[in-house]
Parts: sequence; structure tokens; C-alpha cells
Amino acid sequence: MGRRAYAGGVTPESPATHGVPAPAPVADGAVTPLVRLAPSSGPVPGVPDRGPARTTPGRPLAGRTTLRVGGRPAAEAVATTAEELVGAVREADAAGEPVLLVAGGSNLLVADGDLPHTAVVVASRGVRREPVDACGGVWVTAQAGHPWEELVAETTANGWLGLEALSGIPGSVGATPVQNVGAYGTDVAATLATVRTWDRRDGRLRTLAVGDLGLGYRTSRLKADPDRYVVLEVTFQLREGEVGAPVGYAELAARLGVAVGERAPAVEVREAVLALRRGKGMVLDDADPDTWSAGSFFTNPVLEPAAAAALPEGAPRYPAAGGVKTSAAWLIGAAGFERGHGLPGPASLSTRHTLAVTNRGTATAADVLALAREVRDGVRDRLGVELEPEPRLVGCSLG
Ligand SMILES: Cc1cc2nc3c(=O)[nH]c(=O)nc-3n(C[C@H](O)[C@H](O)[C@H](O)COP(=O)(O)OP(=O)(O)OC[C@H]3O[C@@H](n4cnc5c(N)ncnc54)[C@H](O)[C@@H]3O)c2cc1C
Repeated sequence: MGRRAYAGGVTPESPATHGVPAPAPVADGAVTPLVRLAPSSGPVPGVPDRGPARTTPGRPLAGRTTLRVGGRPAAEAVATTAEELVGAVREADAAGEPVLLVAGGSNLLVADGDLPHTAVVVASRGVRREPVDACGGVWVTAQAGHPWEELVAETTANGWLGLEALSGIPGSVGATPVQNVGAYGTDVAATLATVRTWDRRDGRLRTLAVGDLGLGYRTSRLKADPDRYVVLEVTFQLREGEVGAPVGYAELAARLGVAVGERAPAVEVREAVLALRRGKGMVLDDADPDTWSAGSFFTNPVLEPAAAAALPEGAPRYPAAGGVKTSAAWLIGAAGFERGHGLPGPASLSTRHTLAVTNRGTATAADVLALAREVRDGVRDRLGVELEPEPRLVGCSLG
């Protein structure tokens, strides 16, 4: 069967109150049974009209984003099922109101002040195993609002493999295809099968296969066209077993004591990834302002070969689709910005990672933007490379 005991020693991310509930802690040595998967939040086919979620006056989005900034939307609707999600978006669209989909809020930088949007909060939950025998593996479908970390913990514990190296990434399942979330040498494109969406432009349900999604490095068709598709459910094709995929990241391989390209038990991969991420402040922690961020603020630039060759000696250079990829963190350091840059101000670079712009507790979106702008401009002026923000900026820009 391939189901295995949960090896313990892994504590999922600490509780966060930012939209997506934190996963329940898993005790050391506990066995996570197959049936622990939460029931699906209801049939989606056809999306019967159960009406929109109840719309209420908006509350400041600072309470729903991991950067802890963001002003007050005109209205807010919390959708707990796919039907409510479609209903809330359709109602706002029919009224001509701009819609902002908010799930875990971990990849959003929202402007201060009043916003014209209806914030539709994606809070649908549930996971089901599809009764699919063809093509092999285990097909698992999760509702868009299901916490990603909970899905990774449960599938890994059940011996359904492929997500283990993506442990510790905050947020919801439905947002993972939006920027093809990735870390430690893999991304969701490796296991994604289909994404069920509400197509706002055509006013119909549409299932997009992995090949239709335009997935690339931290990008997709969904991210490029944020006002068109609402992700309702995501289906992954996972492998049954105990040994994870080949480890594609040197730091992770070293931690596991294997060579790059070798395999290790998936449960150990998950533990190692969580430990590495915690060390960098990349697992949400209500007590740790280094994690009050949107993760990496800038994407790693992909440069023309000539521009990559002109970088200072020692700059990382990797072959990538469309050119040569370098490291945004390396460029930020080379431009003179150190960990903690900005302290004691209200916004600073993380004291553990130069790529995370953090709120030390009292920052506004304007403070976060000012710091991000300073870093972007410094890298441009000193190294000639234009850094691009990774989170979605709402009602604001780096200018
Ligand atoms: C500490 C930390 C570490 C991180 N590490 C990583 C990492 O290693 N790798 C990585 O790739 N990212 C990382 N991130 C970024 C972030 O966690 C991911 O991008 C995550 O998938 C965002 O999920 P969310 O539910 O919080 O999305 P939100 O922030 O709520 O939304 C992000 C975008 O997706 C849209 N969206 C949300 N739900 C839907 C939906 N159902 N349908 C359509 N659009 C939707 C939103 O409108 C918005 O444009 C990190 C963030 C933090 C704070």
C-alpha cells in the first residue's frame, strides 16, 4: 500500500491568523491515517447556485496578509465552498465592483487606505482522493482554500509523494498554481494535473490541464491575467512510496547526506526542508518578525547571456528558459544591502535572509514599498539589473 507511519519530529508551521487556518499540530510518532483527510466541501460539477457568500463591510487587509499591511476594501465576502466562491465573484462582477481574491495573504502587498475592491476570501476546505486507476499514482483534489502545508503534511505522511520538498510554504492550495510555487529544486508543476476554475471572462467553469497553465518560474497564465480565473480546486498526481523524488538542491542534499540527484525518504526530506526554512525565517511564526513578509520579495532575474556575463565575478549563473538565471539575494548583497537593512525602522530586510522584506510590527504598506524601492534602485544603480517583485502588488507599485 505504501502508507507509512508519520516519522514525527516535524512540527508544522506555528499558528497564524492570516486567512488560512494553521494546520493542526501532529504529535511526535503519531500515525496519520488515510481517513484524516478532511471531507470535500461539496460537489463542484456544475456549481449549483447556492448564492454568494454573505457580503459585509470590508475590514483592513492588514489582518489577512502575512506582511501585516493593507487598507480597507469596500466590502468583504468569506466563501467557504466553491459554490460560494463563484457566487461572490459573480455578484461583484455583475455589480461592476473590482474583486480581490485573498486566501492566505502570503503573496500580497496591499496599499494602505481605502480600496475600491470587494475582497473575496477563499476559505473553502477539503481534500478527496479521486477514484482514478488509469495513469497510475494517487490523484488528490483539494479545495482552493485548503491550507497548503496541511495538504503537504497529510500526503507525505500517507506515502503519497511529490509535494514533500514544498513543505512550509504558507498559504492555500488554490494559490499554488498562480505563481507555480517552488522551493528546494522543485515546484508544483511537477505534480499538478488539473485546475478547476471559474472563468470570469467567459462566465463558465473551465478545467485547465497542467499544459494549459503556462507554468514557468514563479509565473503562470493565472498570474498574468489575475482578473480572469478563480481557482476552485486543484488536482495533483502523486506517487505512492516512501522514497522522495531526486533531490535537486545542493543545500538540501547536503542536509540529507545525499548527492544532488539522489533520493531520500520523503518524510526526511520534509523534515529537512522545514528545518532549512525555519533557519531562514521562511516558515510563518507569529512570534518572529523575520517571517512577517511575503517570502522572497524579488524573483531571481533571468538575463540575456551578455548581461549575465557582465555581472561581477562570483555571481551565480544558471542556464534557464529564456537566458541565464542569477540570484536576487546575491545581487542584493553585492549591491551593499545586508541582512537587517532598514533596522530599527518599521520595515527592514529579514535579519536571516536579504530577499525577504519584513514588517517589524508597525510598518505600513508605504514603508514596505519604500524599502523595496531602495533595494531595487540600489541593485539597478550598482549592478545594472532590474529586480522584479514576486508578490502581487494591489493598489500600489514600486513606481
Ligand atoms: C514566509 C514565507 C515564505 C514563502 N516561501 C515561498 C516559497 O518558498 N516558494 C514560493 O513559491 N512562494 C513562497 N511564499 C509566497 C506565498 O506563500 C505563495 O505564493 C503562496 O502560494 C500564496 O498563497 P496564498 O494563499 O497566501 O495567496 P494570497 O497571498 O492570498 O494570493 C496570492 C495571489 O493569488 C491570487 N489567488 C489566491 N487565491 C486564488 C484563487 N483561489 N484563485 C485565483 N487566484 C487566487 C490572489 O488574488 C493573489 O493575486 C512565501 C511567503 C511567505 C510569507
